[in-house]
Amino acid sequence: MYSRILVAYDESEVAARALREAIGLARDGGGAVRIVHAVDIMFPATTDMVYVDLEAYRRDRIAQGQAVVAAGAAEAAAAGIQAETAVLEVEGTRFSNAILDDARAWRAELIVVGTRGRGALIHLLLGSVAERIIRHSPVPILLVGSPQPGKAGR
Ligand code: ATP
Ligand code: MG
Repeated sequence: MYSRILVAYDESEVAARALREAIGLARDGGGAVRIVHAVDIMFPATTDMVYVDLEAYRRDRIAQGQAVVAAGAAEAAAAGIQAETAVLEVEGTRFSNAILDDARAWRAELIVVGTRGRGALIHLLLGSVAERIIRHSPVPILLVGSPQPGKAGR
């Protein structure tokens, strides 16, 4: 059984399913769950920008991220699991790098990730964050998909 389960969570329906799987594993095996959400704190610069409060922007992004992981933690708590949470600040690197760094630092034994996220183009099998996590993870991955009605493949 995996005793340290990290969930990459982005508030999409697929990530919610991934979280439910992690909760189920933790309930069955007694493992700890950590819910992480990466946020990009880099302000999207525009040429007509005159003045921007970058620190306020950063705080706002982090607060949004905290709301995301808090929703995940509430879901876990409702199922009797006290999950820990983290908002990962990303500036100029990939979300997947931040998630994998966090997984290493926390000594995750399993990473749970959804096939797609909020940016989903429905025809894509895998989103870019999921793909890079799978490609570079030092530990096993539990990849959770989402069935598409009427699209059962043969
Ligand atoms: P793309 O982002 O490439 O346009 P997408 O949004 O459909 O496509 P991903 O972002 O790869 O797909 O999402 C797949 C999974 O990766 C999600 O279900 C979630 O588990 C994880 N994930 C995505 N974004 C984040 C994030 N910001 N923080 C933590 N985990 C994330
Ligand atoms: Mg995405």
